[in-house]
Amino acid sequence: MQSEGNAIRNIVIVGGGTAGWMSAAVLSRWFPREYCEIHLVESSAIPTVGVGEATIPSILKINQMLGIDEPELIRRTKGTYKLGIEFDGWAKSGERYFHPFGSYGRIVGPIAFPHYWRRFRSAVGGRRAGNLEEYSLNAVAAAARKFDHKSPSPSGQRGFTSYALHFDATLYAAYLAEIAERRGVTRHDSKVVGHRMEDGSVASIALENGSKLHGDLFIDCTGFRALLIGGAMDVGFIDWSRFLPCDRAVVVQSEPLPDLPPFTRAKAGTAGWQWRIPLQDRTSNGYVYCSSYIDEEAAQTELMANLSTKATASPRLIRFRTGRRNTAWKRNVVAIGLSAGFIEPLESTSIHLLQTGLERLLNLMPTKDFRQADIDFYNRSVASEFERVRDFIVLHYHTNARTEKFWQDRRTEKIPETLRERIDLYRGYGRTFKSDDDLFGPVSWTAVMEGQGLHGETHDPFTDCIPGDSLANGLDAIRSDIQRAVANMPSHKAYIEAMLKHA
Ligand code: FAD
Repeated sequence: MQSEGNAIRNIVIVGGGTAGWMSAAVLSRWFPREYCEIHLVESSAIPTVGVGEATIPSILKINQMLGIDEPELIRRTKGTYKLGIEFDGWAKSGERYFHPFGSYGRIVGPIAFPHYWRRFRSAVGGRRAGNLEEYSLNAVAAAARKFDHKSPSPSGQRGFTSYALHFDATLYAAYLAEIAERRGVTRHDSKVVGHRMEDGSVASIALENGSKLHGDLFIDCTGFRALLIGGAMDVGFIDWSRFLPCDRAVVVQSEPLPDLPPFTRAKAGTAGWQWRIPLQDRTSNGYVYCSSYIDEEAAQTELMANLSTKATASPRLIRFRTGRRNTAWKRNVVAIGLSAGFIEPLESTSIHLLQTGLERLLNLMPTKDFRQADIDFYNRSVASEFERVRDFIVLHYHTNARTEKFWQDRRTEKIPETLRERIDLYRGYGRTFKSDDDLFGPVSWTAVMEGQGLHGETHDPFTDCIPGDSLANGLDAIRSDIQRAVANMPSHKAYIEAMLKHA
């Protein structure tokens, strides 16, 4: 196999949302213009989905890879910091819990911190041991609306090594576009109206302005339209609405939140849930719901009734379907972003999934031979990552004690077997593990399982070997250190304001 003469020298990206421009920025970061031409086609007549404003910590990795300066990004995208997600009313109406990024506590030993907390709790009782959140720097800082990059490291935690961002999705895509175009990506503003196939692959696409674009590799970033992967390549869609039936979101912007909380809020509603994402100049809100249980008008009324600040625009509706493409890569077409699949935004995972799609593509960069083994490997790992994220989201719905019909049905509907196994494992000693394709690790699974009211029957027997006194002293010290660290942090709002002055 000769690779050089067969190298990919012409990449065509179709779509200019977050997926398209992130693909363009990442590929142009590694492929110099003289080596490989990169073209991006977007149509100003076809709007982007316009949401996707909450992220998870992996966003920092891609920003770093692209050489993005964080304060500059925060300034340009009206961004804020995110320490995790607050779940309001998910287990029961009136109850809340926090899914923090980062770690809980610190115990040097072979098993995860929550096991020691569980043992402490069974030894001294719930009141004295407190809530697991008290051992998370992120959760405590979020509750106090505080943020600081330079926070001291309480009890050996490495400060806020784990945080993410909220940003205006349109401004973020525009920022990525600037980076990509500076590095030589050619942008075409026109609608793709046709394509020509050759031996089962896409040879070229036809644009409404009359021009044609030939490519060795096509990246489909056309969002839910999935123009190339679903259209030209005829790849089917695996529908997961039996597990995750929400299929609409009604979204609206409102005035900024005065205290600028450093977290996303997900509030359970009649037939779905409502997000609240704080940006500097506005708040992004959306009610994700299932249209078999509530109609659009009622959903809109519920959304507007639960806004924390005054609406500044009219609500708009987005339809979606949860699931993934049978294969995200076929022949010379790779789907990145919504065209590859979508899992509702409860844990802000979509941008992450498009990032990992790109990382995999870089690791499996084809030649014009397009080796099937590489494509199969790509598709298997994308499928597996999607499935594990799906399970995590289903967990939030399945383990609830709410009274509405929608929520009752979520308790009784069949869940994926892989999730059933996780729940069974957890019910014993509160055990949960991260495997290779898992995006979420034990902190996340534990936060949501405990928050949703799913508890281990007893503590892990391993922790019995630790003397009760030293456990109690260790855990008390962790909580005091966290409280001290948070007391010394500025408010998130003050921190952002100070940062903007210097950006
Ligand atoms: P789009 O933004 O839809 O872009 C599609 C592009 O394709 C556009 O530029 C369009 O012009 C172009 N196009 C389409 N057809 C043609 C054609 N024929 N010719 C030329 N161009 C064409 N993700 C998160 O990570 N966090 C969140 O909080 C989050 N919230 C979400 C909430 C909702 C309700 C939904 C639906 C999604 C959410 N997502 C979230 C997902 C996130 O919005 C997307 O993953 C992200 O915006 C990437 O979208 P995209 O670029 O794939 O598609």
